[in-house]
Amino acid sequence: MVPSAQLRIFLLFGLLVPACATPVALAPIPALDAPSPSPPGDWPAQERLAWWEKMVDRLSPADAAEARLCMGSINLELKNGRLARNYFRMALENDLSIKEASQARLGIAKAWLLEGQVELALPYLEDAIPHLAGPPLEEGRYLVAWASGKEITGPVESSIVARLSPFMSGLRPVSAFHSPTLGMKVDVARASWTPLNMRGNHETMARPFRITIHHSAEPLHGTRMSDSLRKVRNIQKAHRDKGWAGIGYHFLIDRGGRVIEGRPLAIQGAHAGDSEMNRGNIGICLLGNFQTQPDRGSAYIQPQSPSSFQLAALKGLLDRLRKQFSIQGKSVFAHLELKGTLCPGPELDAWVRFYRSRS
Ligand SMILES: [Zn+2]
Repeated sequence: MVPSAQLRIFLLFGLLVPACATPVALAPIPALDAPSPSPPGDWPAQERLAWWEKMVDRLSPADAAEARLCMGSINLELKNGRLARNYFRMALENDLSIKEASQARLGIAKAWLLEGQVELALPYLEDAIPHLAGPPLEEGRYLVAWASGKEITGPVESSIVARLSPFMSGLRPVSAFHSPTLGMKVDVARASWTPLNMRGNHETMARPFRITIHHSAEPLHGTRMSDSLRKVRNIQKAHRDKGWAGIGYHFLIDRGGRVIEGRPLAIQGAHAGDSEMNRGNIGICLLGNFQTQPDRGSAYIQPQSPSSFQLAALKGLLDRLRKQFSIQGKSVFAHLELKGTLCPGPELDAWVRFYRSRS
């Protein structure tokens, strides 16, 4: 009888527990599909790790990959982010199931979070989430919300918060900020992207009574804050090159769902068309290219979809703005409804119409 079969029988009788389960009394870290044989789960982490280190080279490639997932998890327990990442990466080099590969990516994200590297963790979380289920999915969603600096809405199991606290302690959520002029909460204050001073050729905005939705028409992949802010500065430059006072939109929403403050709300926007169209009109731009533009080159042929984070953030922002300024749902528009343009692309246009129909 080969050892693994022998130990599978032990497992059947409950004599061993999967080694990836954490032995402390908290709700367990979601169990990975630990290969058998596995060391007893109540051994100290260092001993389980040593056990795997002796065993891993003797396992089949598939079991060795699963063993490396376990070794990554144990290193997360030991708060050793660099080693954890190495084991998860080694596991990913083998043929893992989609579920296991997603667990490895979640592990890499957690390892970065242990070191406070939020922006490095986010892409791994986003890659992992579509293929996770159950507690790992809840963890991934919670971490994305936290790392994006967003409010966590809805009830969250206290056991999840307890389990994830080691990965969040080093984080600084994206600067939550209350606009000093209008009390509108945004994730990224205008000062964060060091805008140029507004030129004098602008009008103050009286009470806003309508909202217009745009896309930036420039592809943006990923959720790194630095990439998002670079795009925002590019938009500022393009708008100033047109002779405008500064960036035309009041808010921009990046792929991770961060709401970024653009033009102060106290100043009339430059986004909808002429001065009459901009009067009392709040401009919101989702970063990304949601409309095919083949004449602009290969990068513009395939349109992106608005990310789920962007749409969730857009809904939250619209709801808040409408409440604050008593704007009716019927006064929320896609840009193409006000002007001959393809902005914001068919998908976001349809979303805006749906939002309006529900409000
Ligand atoms: Zn537009």
